[in-house]
Amino acid sequence: MIEYTMGDLIEDVDHLAKDLEVFEFYDKIKYCFPIPQGGVVPAIFISLKLGLQLITIDELKKYDSEEVLVVDDLIDSGRTISKYDGYPIAVLGAKGWAPEDQKYIHCGRLLPDEWIHFWWEPKGEQDIQNHVVRLLEYIGEDPTREGLVETPARVIKSFDRLYGGYKQHPKDIMKIFNDDSCDEMVVVKDITLHSTCEHHMLPFTGKAHIAYIPDGRVIGVSKLSRLLDIFARRLQIQERIVEQVTTALMDYLKPLGAACVIEATHSCMTSRGIEQQNTVMVTSSLRGVFQEKPEVRAEFMGLIR
Ligand code: ZN
Repeated sequence: MIEYTMGDLIEDVDHLAKDLEVFEFYDKIKYCFPIPQGGVVPAIFISLKLGLQLITIDELKKYDSEEVLVVDDLIDSGRTISKYDGYPIAVLGAKGWAPEDQKYIHCGRLLPDEWIHFWWEPKGEQDIQNHVVRLLEYIGEDPTREGLVETPARVIKSFDRLYGGYKQHPKDIMKIFNDDSCDEMVVVKDITLHSTCEHHMLPFTGKAHIAYIPDGRVIGVSKLSRLLDIFARRLQIQERIVEQVTTALMDYLKPLGAACVIEATHSCMTSRGIEQQNTVMVTSSLRGVFQEKPEVRAEFMGLIR
């Protein structure tokens, strides 16, 4: 995360003012319109510096586009800015986008592709909650209505569980016991799987089956479902979870082989009206003897049927 300080703002506003003073249509600019909400503070500083009058969205239509300097904090994808085609535009910074190509766009600095915290914005969880408020507005909701007032806080809170896997590491739970007497396949089947697809941030749910054949070392059965959870509680694709589970088992437990099969239904398929409403996607990862010996694989497949 980059901290954007008040000093940065003053420096960038100076830079923008110099840049604008040599802009060929500078003399026409009389007003300044801030794009809410990020553009408000930069617009106040810029309008003071250049002696422009701040205007509201309703007043925007009253003036010719060349008369109004549109101000925003930064250009990310360029989508917001594209609504103001024909207006001279000033932004404090741009990410991964080349504002130099546009003679109407004046940019304070090029910023790296990182989360930027502007000093006038709230910090931490409150800041993230504000982004949920904006999402609610975007889908056409009124974030102030009773049922939604607490929603941003609840959404962020739910991330603790939904994405809790990022804060955990397999080595933290892999408590291994030495035991030479066990050499039979260990299978835990029908483990509840809850994960979130990385393409749509929609849930996919189902069952997982995990197995291994010990080579002098075993782990508690409950640890297999915890291991699954560590990987599932992230933004995922189903193909990757099975690989990560067997890789962790092979790396830490060093068994003769490990296997993981997941059967899941994806909300992004069922809820977005894509045919096959009840399609179950099956992915598997087989390692060691599960891959090498057809009879081991057959035994495992038989046990999880
Ligand atoms: Zn998806």
